Amino acid sequence: MADSERCPVCGMQVDPDSSPSESYGGKTYHFCSNDCLRAFQQEPQSYLSESE
Ligand SMILES: [Zn+2]
Repeated sequence: MADSERCPVCGMQVDPDSSPSESYGGKTYHFCSNDCLRAFQQEPQSYLSESE
């Protein structure tokens, strides 16, 4: 699905148009829920250290 993004916290596919987002390190990340957004904000590096 070309138009979807993945939630970096849980790996779920998310719709960029209707999901919460956060800019970090020059990139914009989209989240499946505010819970995942909050988790990312608390410890962003723990979710970005894994390579895809
Ligand atoms: Zn998520």
